[in-house]
Amino acid sequence: MNLKNGTEYIESLRKLKPIIYYKGKKIEDVTRHPATAPHVRAAAMTYALASDDEYRDLATATSHLTGRTISRFTHVHQNIEDLIKKIKLLRILGQKTGTCFQRCVGFDGINAAYSVTYEIDKKCGTDYFERLKQWLIGIQDKNLMVVGAMTDPKGDRSKGPADQPDPDQYLHIVERRPDGVVLRGAKLHMTGAVNSHEILVMPTTAMDERSRDYAVVCAIPVDAPGITMIFGRQANDDRRDKLERIDVGKPAFGAVGGEALIAFEDVFVPTDRIFMDGETEFASLLVYRFAAHHRANYGACTTGLMDVLTGAVSYLTQIQGTAKASHVRDKVTEMIHLCETLYCSSIACSAEGQPTPSGAYLVDTMLANVCKQNVTRFHFEVARLALDLAGGFIATLPSQYDLESEDVGHLVRKYFSGVKDISTEDRIKIARLIEAMTGGTALVESMHGAGSPQAQRVMILREGNLDKKIKLAKALLGIPQRVKAKQGE
Ligand code: SF4
Ligand code: FE
Repeated sequence: MNLKNGTEYIESLRKLKPIIYYKGKKIEDVTRHPATAPHVRAAAMTYALASDDEYRDLATATSHLTGRTISRFTHVHQNIEDLIKKIKLLRILGQKTGTCFQRCVGFDGINAAYSVTYEIDKKCGTDYFERLKQWLIGIQDKNLMVVGAMTDPKGDRSKGPADQPDPDQYLHIVERRPDGVVLRGAKLHMTGAVNSHEILVMPTTAMDERSRDYAVVCAIPVDAPGITMIFGRQANDDRRDKLERIDVGKPAFGAVGGEALIAFEDVFVPTDRIFMDGETEFASLLVYRFAAHHRANYGACTTGLMDVLTGAVSYLTQIQGTAKASHVRDKVTEMIHLCETLYCSSIACSAEGQPTPSGAYLVDTMLANVCKQNVTRFHFEVARLALDLAGGFIATLPSQYDLESEDVGHLVRKYFSGVKDISTEDRIKIARLIEAMTGGTALVESMHGAGSPQAQRVMILREGNLDKKIKLAKALLGIPQRVKAKQGE
């Protein structure tokens, strides 16, 4: 692996020249800018664990392409053990960063593209699979971070890609040349985009024959000509601008993943980096497999976050002298129960994984959708319980400036104190951590990341095999299977 640890990863980003805007100004160095540096540090943890004896087995893998040791984030799952190791790794990373460490999106994109390009080639006689493997060997050997770029802006949601008044609302090919293609459009909400090395472009939805120019999978360096990124605002990010460390809540790693709009203004992609070009019938398969992998992840990274939140609120109840109250213990029990229930579904969809024709393993798609659906409920309930236990002072807490003020600091220390021997500063730090982990942008990720809740419900009903369930009920009652109900069946 070329990049051996977090420091080397951070240094590698300084050699790139992506065009990134934030609050109307250009970011010259993502590793040092206060808006992006915390996200860089969170992603760096994926590199750091690979060189840590305690975690090396989870954080690295043996490449099935080269036999060399690689980061697990660049690996193609070869068996169920790989799927489960990924889940365990993501929970640990969630615990260590308390936030999104971003690198899973490209990881899932690599796995989805690997299995689908194999099947395109079998049917269409193309050579995408070989191209993808050659590109992937480079990613593995250099240990690069890849941003998986799937979500298009979508414009008028009642219309598909080919019917948009503005064709750029879905990323598309505007020109085919002998040596490659030219892309125009955008991808939104791109987690980790500003601190990745490469972009893996994928279609965002099923497509019909008229959408050939939109059915494109390809890889592009983040600083390729024509790429511009606009980094999103996050709740309370002005606190970060001023480096008010306590008030930020999680100064080291940021509140969420760090998302950006990526605009493609006539970006040239050479042929050897194109892994799908016009095979519309495979677009939905790619989205389906990517989504399944990513939905499985959410039951792992989010449980890591819930572990931190449960720990934070438990410590706060100790500071406040309420830890032994029976209702407090019961609510903490419920937080743990929800967290572990969520983790069960993440492990289960991995344990039930199956090989695709390419040999790459895919999680059980039904259980992965159930897993992500649970995230959209359990994380919110855990956050609700955390805020319940923490108390209302989180909403009215004075700033670090007041805490450190010569005039009023003594008042903040005195009146925001808790039990003897634990500093007011500790209480405030924990409160700000809980605020950062339960507010604003942090929970939006759990709702909409890896697809909004309705996307999972569509898949759950589609894969729920209702016909079989009806047959089960009929069989128990001796109702002949051939008799159709008047309604429903
Ligand atoms: Fe990975 Fe979770 Fe972030 Fe998605 S939200 S990129 S699964 S850490
Ligand atoms: Fe996400």
